[in-house]
Amino acid sequence: MKASPLQTWYRKLAARLGRRSTTAPQGPPRIGVILSAGGSRGIYAHTGFLLALEQMGIPVSAIAGCSAGAVVGGIAASGTDMKVWADAIRHVKQEEFWTPDPVRQVIWSMVRNRGIGFTGLSDTAAGTDFFRRNLTAQTFEDCRYPLYIMAINLDRSEKVVFSHGELAPRMMASAAMPILYKPVNIDGSYYSDGALIELAPVDNICCKHGLDALIVHQIGQHFGRKGDMSEVLRQPWSLLEIINRLLFHQRPWYLSNEELGFKFCRCGCGAAVVVLEPQLPDLHWPHTEGGSQVLEVARQKTEALLRPHLEALLSDPRQRLPVPPAGLQAEQSHDAGRCATDQ
Ligand SMILES: [Zn+2]
Repeated sequence: MKASPLQTWYRKLAARLGRRSTTAPQGPPRIGVILSAGGSRGIYAHTGFLLALEQMGIPVSAIAGCSAGAVVGGIAASGTDMKVWADAIRHVKQEEFWTPDPVRQVIWSMVRNRGIGFTGLSDTAAGTDFFRRNLTAQTFEDCRYPLYIMAINLDRSEKVVFSHGELAPRMMASAAMPILYKPVNIDGSYYSDGALIELAPVDNICCKHGLDALIVHQIGQHFGRKGDMSEVLRQPWSLLEIINRLLFHQRPWYLSNEELGFKFCRCGCGAAVVVLEPQLPDLHWPHTEGGSQVLEVARQKTEALLRPHLEALLSDPRQRLPVPPAGLQAEQSHDAGRCATDQ
C-alpha cells in the first residue's frame, strides 16, 4: 500500500527536525529490497540472500534491481519459489544465456564490414527465453509485489526504470552488458545494462511505497581500485576489468565497505537503510561452476549479519535499528528529496 502524501510529508518534516521516526508503526513494518548488479556471481548471491530472508520470515513489500539484481528480483516478484529457481541456476547450461556469434562472423563484421551493425558478441534470445521459462507471472502487473528494473535507454542515452509490461525482455535489457550482449529492442527503442549508470536503484522504491526499511544487497565491487594494469591484462576478461574501473571509481552514498552498515534514507523520510556488502567467493563471468558455493555463502552471510537485528527489523526498524545519529544529519545535509515520490 502506498503512503499517503500527507504521511510522507509528515515523516520527512519530523526527520528533518532530527527525529528518527514520526509515527508508531501500525502493523508489520514495510520492507523493500534492492538488488545490485553483479554478473553471474550476483545471480547466485542474490538468490541465496532472498532464500535467507524467507527463512528468517522477513516479508518483502517491493523490490528494485539492476542487471543480476533485475533478473533475480524479477523471478522472485513473479512468485517463483526461490528453491526451484536456485535449482534451475545450479543446473543452467552456458548456452541457455550466452550464445556468442562464431569467431569468423565477428572477424568478418569487425574487419571486412568495419563493424557496421555489430553491437555485441552474444544475442539475447536464449537468456530471455530462460527467464520466461522460470517466471511464474510474465508481466510486472501480475507480480506479487511492486517491482522496478533499471536499464539504459540507448536512444535517449538515459536511465529508465521499468515497472510495466512484459518482464523477460526488460530483465534481459537490464542485464545486457555492452560489448558482451547486443542491446535489447523493446517497442522500437534499444536498451542495455543499467549498471553503467547506477549499480543499485536505491532511490526508486523507498518513499514511493512508504517503506520503513530498505535492505540493500550489494555484490562486492572494489570502488576506487587501483593497481597495476599489467596484472589485469594477464587475467581472463581483461576488457571487463577496464569497464569495471571506469564504472566503480566513485563509491555510492549508501556503501561503506563494511559487510553490514546502517543509514537513513537520504531524502529524510526516516526509513532505515540496511546495507549488506558480503565478502563472497569469486565467480568469473560467464562461468557457473562454483555458483552453488556463492549461493550458499551469501545465504549464510545474510543470516549471520541480519539475525542479531531481526527483532528490531520486524518490529520498528525506524526506531530500533542501530543507525548512527551522525548519519542522519549527514544524509540530510545534502541531496535531500531524492526519493522517487513522484513517479
Ligand atoms: Zn525515503
